[in-house]
Amino acid sequence: MEYLGQYKAVYKAKSGCEDILAKAQDGGIVTSMFAYALETGIIDGAIVAGPGSEPYKPEPMIATTVEELFAARGTKYSVSPNLALIKEATRSYGLDKIGIVGTPCQIQAVRKAQLYPIGMRDVPDKIALALGIFCMENFPYQGLFQMVEDHCATKIDNVTKMDIGKGKFSVYTERGVNSQIPLKVTHKYEQPGCHVCLDYVANMADISTGSVGTPDGWSTVFVRSAAGEAAFNKAVEAGWIIAESMDGVKPGLELVEKLATEKITKNQKYLEHRLHKEHPALKPLRNPYI
Ligand SMILES: Cc1cc2nc3c(=O)[nH]c(=O)nc-3n(C[C@H](O)[C@H](O)[C@H](O)COP(=O)(O)OP(=O)(O)OC[C@H]3O[C@@H](n4cnc5c(N)ncnc54)[C@H](O)[C@@H]3O)c2cc1C
Ligand code: SF4
Repeated sequence: MEYLGQYKAVYKAKSGCEDILAKAQDGGIVTSMFAYALETGIIDGAIVAGPGSEPYKPEPMIATTVEELFAARGTKYSVSPNLALIKEATRSYGLDKIGIVGTPCQIQAVRKAQLYPIGMRDVPDKIALALGIFCMENFPYQGLFQMVEDHCATKIDNVTKMDIGKGKFSVYTERGVNSQIPLKVTHKYEQPGCHVCLDYVANMADISTGSVGTPDGWSTVFVRSAAGEAAFNKAVEAGWIIAESMDGVKPGLELVEKLATEKITKNQKYLEHRLHKEHPALKPLRNPYI
């Protein structure tokens, strides 16, 4: 499995807490892991994508209570610059053990800040748990707004959940699925930067998770680092997470690998096109995963 990165174990998993599942995006892995880590002192706060002043416009937030983690549940398909709060977490909040959730590009940036802490002197030792979420593409807020209000004919204030899966962008309200549009409609709203992105499954996270590969209500979870493994196993033992083998799970890792391969080969081709056609002076980005 060339594009799934290094991992120690992979599971079909979900939260053991019904309250978390009630408003989680998928299996509630991110909220459960941070809640367990907060309660047991593995972290003393987590940087998450909180609810912003406008619906589904995420605002990074430092959560130091389980209630604050609960408020950040669910996916917002727009950029949440979570790294912008790292310094504030250490300096204003005085956190020594930080949890952070991010898209694959954001987890790469976290690792880069740890390796080359220019302007981030306090950071390298203080990232205790980096949770990555799978990511095919992201949208500027204005684009997301148009997708919901114009294409899905739904007031964004009434939306209770958005989801991308099975080739469709779906919008839910209190009454259930309200509208679905094919992804070919949403492509034009994607962030241009996502078209040169070479990571689908957050290869550099301690733990990465997404919905693809497992049935609805569950998550696919890659446990990658020693820190991730220790925290995940303890969360399972304590009942915060229910984890099962991926063996025989449909559609399983084959689908995760297929989507990762599609994303990376498509974006690699686009990079090569830019190299030859648009910027002959630039060298291509090296794919760090192959
Ligand atoms: C832009 C985007 C694209 C995605 N694409 C895919 C995909 O192609 N395939 C797939 O399987 N999964 C994808 N996901 C991940 C998926 O939607 C869920 O976020 C993931 O499965 C975690 O669900 P959960 O139930 O464990 O999280 P929950 O317990 O519900 O918690 C979600 C956590 O994610 C954080 N979060 C929400 N929005 C953002 C954001 N924009 N940036 C950073 N953090 C955020 C919240 O703060 C919260 O802590 C994508 C997520 C995003 C943000
Ligand atoms: S597709 Fe890549 S660049 Fe775009 S938000 Fe996701 S991880 Fe970041």
